[in-house]
Amino acid sequence: MRIVLLGPPGAGKGTQAARLAAHLGVPHIATGDMLRLAANADTPLGRRLHSYMDRGELVPDDLTNSIVEERISQPDAAGGFILDGYPRSVDQAKMLDESLAMQGASLDKAIKFMVTGPEIVKRLSGRLVCPVDGSVYHLVTNPPKVDKLCDIDGTPLVQREDDSEETVLRRLEVYGQRTKPLYDLYGERGILDEVDAIGSTEEVYERLLRAAASGEKK
Ligand code: ADP
Ligand code: AMP
Repeated sequence: MRIVLLGPPGAGKGTQAARLAAHLGVPHIATGDMLRLAANADTPLGRRLHSYMDRGELVPDDLTNSIVEERISQPDAAGGFILDGYPRSVDQAKMLDESLAMQGASLDKAIKFMVTGPEIVKRLSGRLVCPVDGSVYHLVTNPPKVDKLCDIDGTPLVQREDDSEETVLRRLEVYGQRTKPLYDLYGERGILDEVDAIGSTEEVYERLLRAAASGEKK
């Protein structure tokens, strides 16, 4: 299945995408993770990416589109994928359609994570990530087993630079202006489903599974 997860920053897309992808046996493709990795390189491209991401702006389409196009044409994505963080604009959605059409494929489902503003603030202000493997934790709702150390490799966890209050506000604005129009686009196409993303990660996962199953090809 080819599924896109949509929702504001901090809605829990990455947390759920990893689990859903493992369940379906398809890759979890997170543009934020891929871009952060590229931004860490001490190169002109890395510095350019940093400058957009640190300000909460979208990275220009010429960079994101080519990364996604390349990734979804890999053999492991031939049977489907969970896209997390892409598309984030109508132009990116068109680009995705074109790339898939070249493979004779199309999106099966776009799933919108529904959360409230106060919940987003709580989730982003307590988010901790492992700088090495990208795994995601929360100080209160999903703490690591050992205080502020990654469960998988023991690396000290960090707060994402763009989870600062000022940058979060800008990311939410960008989401409202650039990403929200996708709901109309996918709604009109009849592939949009909404998932209540408030509740425990287990509860949200159960809802997500039901939404994903409703898009399965007969
Ligand atoms: P996104 O990928 O949408 O930006 P994340 O998956 O990184 O969101 O989740 C944001 C933060 O919220 C993380 O700290 C994560 O541990 C936490 N989180 C995820 N799902 C839930 C949930 N259902 N309830 C409470 N906190 C959650
Ligand atoms: P995320 O990890 O999804 O919250 O993304 C972190 C940052 O990466 C965003 O604020 C953008 O700067 C950049 N980014 C991620 N995905 C995209 C995308 N599809 N288009 C443009 N920029 C992106």
